[in-house]
Amino acid sequence: MKIVFSKRYEERYPANPVENPDRVRLPAVELEKAGNEFVQPQPCTLQDIARVHGKEHIDRVRESGHFEAASLAAGGAIRAAELAASGEPAFALIRPPGHHAAANRAWGMCYFNSMAIAVQRIRPEAKRVLIIDIDLHFGDGTVSIFRGDNDVRIVNPGSLDANFDYLTMDAAGYLKQVESAAGEKSFDIVGVSAGFDTYREDWGGLLGIEDYKKIGEIIKRISKGHGGKRFALLEGGYHPDLGRCILSFLEGFR
Ligand SMILES: [Zn+2]
Repeated sequence: MKIVFSKRYEERYPANPVENPDRVRLPAVELEKAGNEFVQPQPCTLQDIARVHGKEHIDRVRESGHFEAASLAAGGAIRAAELAASGEPAFALIRPPGHHAAANRAWGMCYFNSMAIAVQRIRPEAKRVLIIDIDLHFGDGTVSIFRGDNDVRIVNPGSLDANFDYLTMDAAGYLKQVESAAGEKSFDIVGVSAGFDTYREDWGGLLGIEDYKKIGEIIKRISKGHGGKRFALLEGGYHPDLGRCILSFLEGFR
């Protein structure tokens, strides 16, 4: 599997201490040991960002000191999406995360919405997109950016129906919701906002390491039914087992 990664993702920048360089530094070592091929990203362009975010938001991110890190993360997402569009599944091991970034606002350690930026960049080739957001937290930024866009379907398993109650959900129930992510419509590519904070020892306290392999397999199967183009990028996940969770996911997803 091609892993998009840069040593610069290990740089420290002013952020909440839970969103620290070890989140990618340790998984990168494990993914390399497992024989994955590493690919370098370039920062995305201002034009890429402006397809998704308003000028005031971009200026605020610049002032906050996160512009370069967020641009390189979005660039990594673009690289993974482009690889996928050309027929090679890929995983972007990036930080900071992006799914809480909307057009003009962001929270939750997010600045630019890497998934949205990557999707808009490959849009000419892959018009219809399925985004599956498996992070513990609802990807409100991504949903808000694509609201009204009928060619983008976004699924946040764990919050599919109005009667959703996370506290009564178990791993089997969660996997069932991932299964139903495909929906009725056809699509050209699948992008996964891969957060691992649903992990049993992380904040979500729900899924075991082996469940991520099952999620990867399910999404691969869904994607294969529609041409097989698929990529994933890192969102949340804050436990030192993050590398093992990613490896497990990729075993199913590759
Ligand atoms: Zn999260």
